[in-house]
Amino acid sequence: MRPIQKSKKLADVCYDIRGPVLEKAKQMEDEGHKIIKLNIGNLAVFGFDAPDEIVRDMILNLPNSAGYTDSKGLFAPRKSIMHYTQEKKITGVTIDDIYIGNGASELIVMGMNALLNSGDEVLVPAPDYPLWTAAVSLSGGTPVHYVCDEQADWYPDIEDIKRKITTNTKAIVVINPNNPTGALYPVELLEQIVELARQHQLIIFADEIYDKTLYDGATHTSIASLADDVLFVTLNGLSKNYRSCGYRAGWMVVSGQKKHAKDYIEGLNMLASMRLCANVPGQFAIQTALGGYQSINDLVAPGGRLARQRDLAHRLLTEIPGVSCVKPRAALYMFPKLDPKMYPIENDQQFAYELLAEEKVLIVQGTGFNWIAPDHFRVVFLPNSDDLAEAVGRIARFLDGYRRR
Ligand code: PLP
Repeated sequence: MRPIQKSKKLADVCYDIRGPVLEKAKQMEDEGHKIIKLNIGNLAVFGFDAPDEIVRDMILNLPNSAGYTDSKGLFAPRKSIMHYTQEKKITGVTIDDIYIGNGASELIVMGMNALLNSGDEVLVPAPDYPLWTAAVSLSGGTPVHYVCDEQADWYPDIEDIKRKITTNTKAIVVINPNNPTGALYPVELLEQIVELARQHQLIIFADEIYDKTLYDGATHTSIASLADDVLFVTLNGLSKNYRSCGYRAGWMVVSGQKKHAKDYIEGLNMLASMRLCANVPGQFAIQTALGGYQSINDLVAPGGRLARQRDLAHRLLTEIPGVSCVKPRAALYMFPKLDPKMYPIENDQQFAYELLAEEKVLIVQGTGFNWIAPDHFRVVFLPNSDDLAEAVGRIARFLDGYRRR
């Protein structure tokens, strides 16, 4: 029999957050091992429950959710998203500019599929949330990584972005707040990116899914609020700010210079129609979430569970010899660096694999986020304080052994 092979489209597509190391972890769990998971930003499984009112709303609306909706989504949740864009000072958004999806993930892939031809380049940050790189590749485009500078709080390096713009560059992806670094960008930096987009006619894809998960009283500026002469596609959703990853409720807002983008918008509409609609219970949850009590604020306030766990994980990690880490100002992650002189790692997937096998702690290697060198890893600070302390203790023990090899 002829072997059945995956499509050539997938040759350059990679999503290591759920890659081979996770497979090994599943196998170990099947064998009865207990693993501390610092690998995925999946809040509810760590006891960060979705707000009650959202759950109740989903249950109440279940009987009304059996039919397809408009491809872009129900009117009322889109209206509440429209109101949210007004709060974020994004101007000129109409109900037609709003697409609800099965999480932001579906819409990221849709946004790229509707845009890219072979040879088109998209600027994507390094490190990135790797779905962005994967979506560009899957859509036939070429991801070109611009560097975020660890020495400068992980902010995008504007000079590097300038160097990497070519006549083939169609768009730039800005993940703010950032996964995996936890960086939160200042307005002046966002303005510089807007100016580059303006000069080179680039679409700005703004992934703002952590825009309410902010520590130390920080505030977030939507990049789309800074101009109306650039095309913006802004992504957000309930997964993180409302601890509802499993409800698969996300949205995409097209704003700014829309009149030159009619054809692209037609493409988006076609792809939205082809998948009929997003899951309807998830759509219903959106308006309750956006209009309800913003309990995320209690979790990120000083003394709140997320803020405490961030502080603890950061302190314990940076106490390990040869580990440094920019303290996250937002989101759920840290991206610590391992001093290459002390830890001469050649293959960081192997490193993650060995940590898992020896200490039963699951992390994701830095190259899984398209980082350039095997000298970083990502942790989530979602397990409770005892588990976090235990996990970091095990990482310290593993690194101690690594140094002595
Ligand atoms: N964007 C970023 C930066 C993320 O970290 C994630 C999930 O971790 C997503 C998008 C996907 O979110 P959703 O659950 O809405 O598909």
